[in-house]
Amino acid sequence: MTRAERLAKVVAEHELDMLYVSDLVNVRYLAGFTGTNGACLVGRDERIFFTDFRYTERAQREVGAEWERPEAERELVPQIAGRMHGRVGFEDAKLPVRGLTRLEAAAGDDVELIPAGELVEGLRAVKDPEEIERIAAAAQLTDEVYRWAIEAGLAGKTERAVARASEAKIRELGAEPSFPPIVAGAANGALPHAEPEEREIGSGELVVFDMGALLDGYCSDCTRTFATGDVDDEAREVYELVERSQAAALEAVRPEASGQEVDAVPREIISEAGHGDHFGHGTGHGVGLEVHEGPRLATTSDDQLAEGNVVTVEPGVYLPGRLGVRIEDLVVVIADGYRNLSGLPKSLTTVG
Ligand code: ZN
Ligand code: ZN
Repeated sequence: MTRAERLAKVVAEHELDMLYVSDLVNVRYLAGFTGTNGACLVGRDERIFFTDFRYTERAQREVGAEWERPEAERELVPQIAGRMHGRVGFEDAKLPVRGLTRLEAAAGDDVELIPAGELVEGLRAVKDPEEIERIAAAAQLTDEVYRWAIEAGLAGKTERAVARASEAKIRELGAEPSFPPIVAGAANGALPHAEPEEREIGSGELVVFDMGALLDGYCSDCTRTFATGDVDDEAREVYELVERSQAAALEAVRPEASGQEVDAVPREIISEAGHGDHFGHGTGHGVGLEVHEGPRLATTSDDQLAEGNVVTVEPGVYLPGRLGVRIEDLVVVIADGYRNLSGLPKSLTTVG
């Protein structure tokens, strides 16, 4: 079954006649189109792809034969609205208010527009083997950049310089960063989403290093925390705690485990050690065409894991004003558990 066929089934299950797909990542997922102006309508029998004249050739190359490709103006909405009928779902988490207003103005009286949530994202959460291979390749590339960065050393460089050099290395290896790398030493490491600063990394600190690559359209995401020389007992204890909680969380990853269940495993271990208040984010998230997608491993998650999900497992402990530790692997959910796509060691690694 093609992705569009699977979506058509979901659309019918939601008692919709059609889904209007306006999110470009979802358009890419369904139709293969990589341009910046495109949309799809998917119904029981309809597979209609819209783009404007600037992208006609690209669409010819990228968009499969199952799709009808009518000629459209640069402003796609009037034409799209003209093909709508019945109960039409739209992507309310993604469609801007202005887009909806235009659509309402252009749609006929027989059209009922219905917020449909994230139906394509639901399909995207389960990866096919080709997608998994692409994510694995992006993860391997990231591992290679980490090995290079470990060789090059951290102490004596600014966080920003390390981040920039890593981005350059990712590009040199033929990819793009999937997000701006985080390099955060000592007290900066206590901010889970720290931005690298013009601060020189000293020796004897912990450095949270979080980066990923975007290769062939697919993302990776990996965090390691390194020591620059000998660290004190507190740092070592926190590191070992996070390492232990991360290993336990990995063992909880399997088909049908709930996002809450997996999240609770490292959270309990960290809480028992007295650091419950120092782990303020979710345990993990899905990764694919986007670096943050479903399913989520978090206290508030409604998701359930399934074979083919690709998720991060990334507990952390952050002591304000002192230090932070996060260890993040990227794994595929397989029948009997998980396959780890991140190949770097997790015991505390000392770099120069
Ligand atoms: Zn990350
Ligand atoms: Zn992550």
